[in-house]
Amino acid sequence: MVLHGLFGPSLAPKNLATTLVWLHFRGVLVLVLLCAGNFFCFVCPFMLVRQVARRLFQPWLAWPRKLRNKWLSAGLFVLILFLYELFDLWSSPWWTAWLIVAYFVAVLVVDGVFKHAAFCKFVCPIGQFNFAASTLSPLEVKVRDQEVCADCVTRDCIRGRRDPASELVVVQRGCELALFQPRKSGNMDCTFCLDCVHACPHDNVGILSRVPASELMGDPFRSGIGYFSRRKDLAALAIVFTFGALLNAFGMVSPVYAVESWMARMLHVTHEAPVLGLVFTAFLVAEPVLLLGVAAWITRTWAGSRRAMPALMTRYSYGLAPLGFGMWLAHYSFHFFTGLYTAIPITQNAIASLGRAYLGEPRWTLTGLPLRAVQPLQVGFLMLGLTGSLLVTHRLAQDDCGDHPMRAFVPWAAVCLLIWVGAIWLIFQPMEMRATFMTG
Ligand code: SF4
Ligand code: SF4
Repeated sequence: MVLHGLFGPSLAPKNLATTLVWLHFRGVLVLVLLCAGNFFCFVCPFMLVRQVARRLFQPWLAWPRKLRNKWLSAGLFVLILFLYELFDLWSSPWWTAWLIVAYFVAVLVVDGVFKHAAFCKFVCPIGQFNFAASTLSPLEVKVRDQEVCADCVTRDCIRGRRDPASELVVVQRGCELALFQPRKSGNMDCTFCLDCVHACPHDNVGILSRVPASELMGDPFRSGIGYFSRRKDLAALAIVFTFGALLNAFGMVSPVYAVESWMARMLHVTHEAPVLGLVFTAFLVAEPVLLLGVAAWITRTWAGSRRAMPALMTRYSYGLAPLGFGMWLAHYSFHFFTGLYTAIPITQNAIASLGRAYLGEPRWTLTGLPLRAVQPLQVGFLMLGLTGSLLVTHRLAQDDCGDHPMRAFVPWAAVCLLIWVGAIWLIFQPMEMRATFMTG
């Protein structure tokens, strides 16, 4: 993909870098997260560089204490969304290739210097997306039997399995993301690397099924994370994940151009950056603060919750994650399914450009599924997201206000409905067919 991005055709729909990254990778990513779990972190290609580098030299520093949270990675997540819109990354194979290269370099530098999986846990924006989405997945890496752990003295799942001849030599890594299996709860921060599975001497860890979103409904102490309700950085990530989904979809519908040119005229600017900055502030700051703030205020005054406003906003923000995931699914599946077969002619073309058409002449007529087949699927994903958010917020309201659970639930249900209506409106707008030949 990098080679084709740098040296292949500059037209996005003909290049493997743009097509595979922006159409296929994102589509398969969200579908695998929905149907299974965080298997993309499991097969992350960026880790390859890390493994090779660690054979050559060992990292020597601990990740700075002040950065042991999600603020940096959530900020990088927003930055990537911003750059994606500003530089129209989906239309530039060259920039897409350099983005991949930059990612490899960033992994090499961060994990070359800092011990454990600092990049995965505290830096990687794609990883944070996967962590947030995998809270809705049906699979989880967890212990089979807590009683076995209670009798365990070695705790290899976190310490790593040591060489019997020398305690200092680790023959199998334990969890580098600081998740101690017996007290791990849910998929947050789990890269599905399976180190703990291999390290446990009692074969007591596996990939097991569970109810999707169930981890959002409670607030237990979680190893390596703490309490969700006390993590404002994690709540910010959930908010960016949810409202970023709407923002990212808004960037590809026709009305965005009218809105942006109106704003540019009002601001008397000709560059897109300040206008985009305002759009991002509206979607990622003003909208969540307003919606969550009003809902939290009603929960306090009408339902009698004793929690402070920021605590309520933090707690219930996780309840919006299913809706956010529904929107990402609706958006990415649109590109994925409408451009489903495009990888075939592009690969044929890439091979043919080497001198001989081993895979035949490119069949450019191969595109994807028609819109009429994809749109019902998008609506289904949004319905699924709405249902998940209503279930989670209802459970949170029950725990929060035992006396008046419905009063606590109603404002959050209204927030979910508002977001859902906005999402439905978005998917029925004329959309850009990014990185495909079709127009519509
Ligand atoms: S998961 Fe395995 S290694 Fe870890 S505490 Fe339980 S039994 Fe011990
Ligand atoms: S070691 Fe186990 S708990 Fe830790 S990230 Fe890998 S799969 Fe998840």
